[in-house]
Amino acid sequence: MSKPDVLAVAKLHPFYQKALESAFTVHDRTHITDPAAFAELAPRIVGVAGTGEASVPRSLLAQVTNAKVVSVFGVGYDGVDVAAAIEHGIPVTHTPDVLTDDVADLAMGLVLSVGRTIPQADQFVRTGQWPGGPIALARKVSGARLGIVGLGRIGKAIAQRARGFGMSIAYTARSEKADSGFKFLASAAELAANVDFLVVITPGGAGTKHLINADVLKALGPRGFLINVARGSVVDEEALIAALQNGTIAGAGLDVFANEPHVPDVLWTLHNVVLTPHMASATHETRQAMADLAFANMQAGTSGQPLRTPVPECAALK
Ligand code: NDP
Repeated sequence: MSKPDVLAVAKLHPFYQKALESAFTVHDRTHITDPAAFAELAPRIVGVAGTGEASVPRSLLAQVTNAKVVSVFGVGYDGVDVAAAIEHGIPVTHTPDVLTDDVADLAMGLVLSVGRTIPQADQFVRTGQWPGGPIALARKVSGARLGIVGLGRIGKAIAQRARGFGMSIAYTARSEKADSGFKFLASAAELAANVDFLVVITPGGAGTKHLINADVLKALGPRGFLINVARGSVVDEEALIAALQNGTIAGAGLDVFANEPHVPDVLWTLHNVVLTPHMASATHETRQAMADLAFANMQAGTSGQPLRTPVPECAALK
């Protein structure tokens, strides 16, 4: 018996791809590689598999008339036109919680890397500079002031870790979390003006585009560091590059970029920046957990079972 058809809208992580192939015939980006063939195939598609930022536009959702679910491998789903999915009665799922620890760990790793100049120190030793004298002094992390832009699942996990470093914690979000015990500041600029390390961990998409702009960077100031583990779109990358070049801020730790996987060449040359390739959730354990959850959502959605983790906007569709 032939397996039901699903569409992968982007190159999937091998763990997710393998799980899907055990139960479905996976059509890899056919809507892009062969639109004519896809027009015939589209009514047979029962599910759409995506990644955090992969595009699932309204036009595609209109074509897959028998799709029962869009299952995203990732907690962010800014590439999916959720409003159109709801109009077509296709619920969207994602993979929250299972990646929270890893992303929070990497955020703290970047705080330590930029503050204590760990990558630069590694280069210092490897390039034989140590005998020429000591490395420049770094910035103390323990006891410093941490600002978190977005106190959701991951933001709270970052705060928990930062407490272990004796850091004072303040945050901004769309609404105050009175029970968090942390200081709320109403805007990113106000928060930036009051912290040493500003960690950005909001969703991407239109609602947060360039939330971190030139004004926020100016408020962060010449002794302040920016960490972005959210989405490249949340930070005005041109303004950030200028701020790093001019000493408007002290440095940055960046896991995400405006036009991935392309990173502006100028960032490669700046010594006050630590760069990682959008890998905050990229551990063996977490990628397996994400694949298991994304696959469970695909199976549930395509077989009429309750979805494990629908996105909040689709909770009513489950
Ligand atoms: P949550 O939904 O739990 O938290 C999101 C937080 O962002 C909430 O506190 C929310 O505020 C806040 N927020 C949303 N919009 C705004 C805004 N306009 N201004 C200020 N704050 C805002 O999500 P998670 O913590 O699980 O994940 C957060 C994001 O992390 C993901 O959407 C993704 O973009 C990113 N991510 C990046 C990864 C990487 O590899 N680098 C891996 C995983 C996630 P409120 O609570 O008031 O609504």
